[in-house]
Amino acid sequence: MLYRIETMAIMIDGKELARKVRSDLKIECENLKAKGINPKFAVIMVGDDPASKVYVRTKSKACDEIGVEYEEHILDASITQKELIELIHKLNEDKSVNGILLQSPIPKHLDIDEAFREISYEKDVDGFNPINVGKLLLNQDTFISCTPFGIMKMFEEYHIDLEGKNLVIIGRSNIVGKPLMACCLNKHATVTICHSRTKELKEKTRNADILVAAIGKPNYVTADMVKEGAVVIDVGINRGKDKKITGDVDFENVKEKASYITPVPGGVGPMTVAMLMNNVIKATKNQNNI
Ligand code: NAP
Repeated sequence: MLYRIETMAIMIDGKELARKVRSDLKIECENLKAKGINPKFAVIMVGDDPASKVYVRTKSKACDEIGVEYEEHILDASITQKELIELIHKLNEDKSVNGILLQSPIPKHLDIDEAFREISYEKDVDGFNPINVGKLLLNQDTFISCTPFGIMKMFEEYHIDLEGKNLVIIGRSNIVGKPLMACCLNKHATVTICHSRTKELKEKTRNADILVAAIGKPNYVTADMVKEGAVVIDVGINRGKDKKITGDVDFENVKEKASYITPVPGGVGPMTVAMLMNNVIKATKNQNNI
């Protein structure tokens, strides 16, 4: 799975690693079924955001591949907060459902924070319930949100040791930057988290042994921002007018300087869905005391 590209960096092949994770999960799922346990995953989508539709389809395909039962609840964009919460409570109480995910974004008149809070922390496979966020900060066993979890899996698989490393994350979102900060701190990295108000960003990124870009701006991280030999993880997914997907890192130039780099597409993206499936199997096992 390790191969060098042109001069320097080893490409971290998220697509291949995700395939391996899914194949291991398929075996775990078969073992659960042999015990009479059928993992089931429920997705709630509100409205018909085109990008959300694509993400939901990817999740349903992953369930099919692994053998997880998939249940989809597509709600009209005009639904009330009360109706949304009622559905969440129904799924919480349904013993046949092991994992619940609310696809974001949801329409602006709805309170997503309350909705995440109401998903039982035991079925919160996205890791957004504040109980699970708190457990992550306290370095306790929990559901880690899937993108940071996928990045941690990449570090593990490629033997990238975080202990004592200067690790810089650009982006402080609740779904990527902040949980990744906690994961890396738990693995003893010295973490710096940057955002749009950060001053002298380049000075900070040039000091990074490991640099993670989760910004949402195409090719924002240029080679002059990267230290020679750094590990560079690109979380960005930026869709151009031509529908082509670009990351946040200027891959062509940065790969000449980095020691490891993730491509876009085929890097962090596939890992996110694989780790979601990992969380569904984990939830099923937890709920069955396995
Ligand atoms: P987000 O919520 O929009 O957060 C972006 C972060 O980048 C914010 O913290 C923002 O700072 C910071 N930022 C924006 N411009 C900056 C600048 N010029 N300098 C420094 N920091 C800047 O985005 P997100 O949800 O974390 O997603 C980030 C990217 O990752 C997007 O492209 C998204 O599509 C992608 N993504 C990929 C996956 C995957 O599976 N591969 C999963 C999730 C997200 P402020 O906080 O100050 O505004």
